[in-house]
Amino acid sequence: MSIRTHKLKVSNRLQSRIRKGYPWVHFYQIEKEPKDIQPGDLGVIYDKANRFLAIGLYDPCSEIRLRILNTGSPCAIDRVFFDQRLKEALILRVGLEEAGTTGYRVVNGENEGFPGFVIDRYGDTVVFKLYTAAWFPHLETLLALVTENLNIKRVVLLLSRHTERSGSGDPPYKNGTVLYGPEREGPVPFKENGLKFKADVIEGQKTGFFLDQRENRERIGKLAKGKTVLNVFSYTGGFSIYSLAGGARSVLEIDSNRWALEAAKLNMKLNEDTLQNVDTRFDQLCEDAFKALSRLNKEKQKFDVVILDPPAFAKNKKHKSNALLAYQRLAKMGARLTRPEGMLFSASCSNPVEAGEFYYAVRRGIRETGNVFEETLKTQHALDHPVRFKEGAYLKGIYCRIKGRGVQSTGTHEEKKRR
Ligand code: SAH
Repeated sequence: MSIRTHKLKVSNRLQSRIRKGYPWVHFYQIEKEPKDIQPGDLGVIYDKANRFLAIGLYDPCSEIRLRILNTGSPCAIDRVFFDQRLKEALILRVGLEEAGTTGYRVVNGENEGFPGFVIDRYGDTVVFKLYTAAWFPHLETLLALVTENLNIKRVVLLLSRHTERSGSGDPPYKNGTVLYGPEREGPVPFKENGLKFKADVIEGQKTGFFLDQRENRERIGKLAKGKTVLNVFSYTGGFSIYSLAGGARSVLEIDSNRWALEAAKLNMKLNEDTLQNVDTRFDQLCEDAFKALSRLNKEKQKFDVVILDPPAFAKNKKHKSNALLAYQRLAKMGARLTRPEGMLFSASCSNPVEAGEFYYAVRRGIRETGNVFEETLKTQHALDHPVRFKEGAYLKGIYCRIKGRGVQSTGTHEEKKRR
């Protein structure tokens, strides 16, 4: 399939955003859509003085018509271009494998110059996740580069729901296609900081595991020694295994997905040799989190560490205010279950919810319980999820030490700074 190049016009305002690194052009932002344009064709934007501004991948079936590949000076979009980009991404990940991590994000889409394209690695298996059909004509090139640059056995292709359905005919590849290497034999083994896991790259959420929370899992592991831990929205047990490895007295998981809880048990088993007495330290509740938290509160249960890592409550701006209320309610329920001097960790992966709004909701939730607390840390994505534009920052986390009720406030982190 030959890839053609089309000239595009956008407003001066959008030009200046693109110059600063904004990577998208939506359908309503293109002055006149070119005719006969195919997914994967290249679109070139010129500035008001008719100088080259940016080049990107075009997808006529996506609301985001153009995804910017390069800004500044003209360049060929070819194997050499992608090879350089991939090598830059790999440099950022140097050291991860030495630290016992073989499951990590290799390329973080827009943030690393691969708009709409994510590459995750799980041991010897690589997952390509496509968010636009514009990558199809470039896939062979990417496949050759990844197999050359990474010592792996298999590449699996995942398509976002939109990519699977877009266009008039069937997509040239099916979701779950093994592009390279042998067919999968069930979930794929990998390591994170020396701990063992398996990810089901086809049936699992995201590309099989929430790689973006690795650094938070590590932090929780470090503060878990001798503690009782409540892991809410536990998925396949990431935070639980780190807690037990860190010496937690007990871990209770809550998730409404039976499949995820079973996968967590298998992950636990993989680490049997290093985690002692797991049978007596580990328990699960397959239940709606809000219901389970309310019941545990009625039973007057308390935990030293409470982890709240829910799914995205808001996928778009329309759902933002409800999402904020849900984060507030959750923080309130979590704070009630946290023992004085215990730690509440609350996370949000809702893209439309900004960090400040999320922290505010969490603070309100905790205050409603009458507890005094101290914010000890705010976190973002792990190192292998770099963020290069505002909309790319979806993950935020906050650690609050719950001081107890009727305790003299030492002020939140912000309040202390203001003084
Ligand atoms: N903390 C996990 C990732 C959590 S993903 C990790 O580090 O791997 C969100 C999880 O919330 C999923 O496993 C999903 O099954 C679960 N979930 C979604 N809605 C829920 C609900 N209402 N009650 C309990 N669990 C829920």
